[in-house]
Amino acid sequence: MGLDLKALAKKIEKCRLCRLWKSRKKAVPGEGPENAKIMFIGQAPGKQEDATGKPFVGKAGKFLNALLDEIGFDRQKCFITSVVKCFPPKNRPPRADEAMICIKNYLAKQIELVNPKLVVLLGKIAQRYVPDSLLSGRIVLKTAHPAAGMRFPKIRRKMKKDFSLLKKLIKEIS
Ligand code: SF4
Repeated sequence: MGLDLKALAKKIEKCRLCRLWKSRKKAVPGEGPENAKIMFIGQAPGKQEDATGKPFVGKAGKFLNALLDEIGFDRQKCFITSVVKCFPPKNRPPRADEAMICIKNYLAKQIELVNPKLVVLLGKIAQRYVPDSLLSGRIVLKTAHPAAGMRFPKIRRKMKKDFSLLKKLIKEIS
């Protein structure tokens, strides 16, 4: 029998398939309902996420929450995760080999299990590494990473536009 999301999360918590296990305190598998229609995929856990084991709980997470509040969408209804599940040293971007290993072993399975209709790729790393084969048949929205939106007004304005589009797309799939 295949793994469910909880069993997969347990596996991730003990994973040592790439070097990033050495820099993590807690792996961050992601969270959300198994039947979520929307999945958000970010880059990697940050410091706060590493300390708590929860996705998007730091400043960038709060910014994401605010964007979702603005379009009246309840975060609890979506599945939120990232390309790699462990905190990279000094918060550097994940490397190609780390991203590939983690996606192949975990994100691919999460997408298969949740089977979201809509996938939001947050930032360049998710847009670069999540393969098209995992996204076919789904609506894909590419936007900036909330950490960038939080810092740069121009990116923030663009993200707000993207989230208005997201609101329309959510209506279409509901
Ligand atoms: S980042 Fe992914 S592949 Fe690497 S150790 Fe963590 S869970 Fe395993």
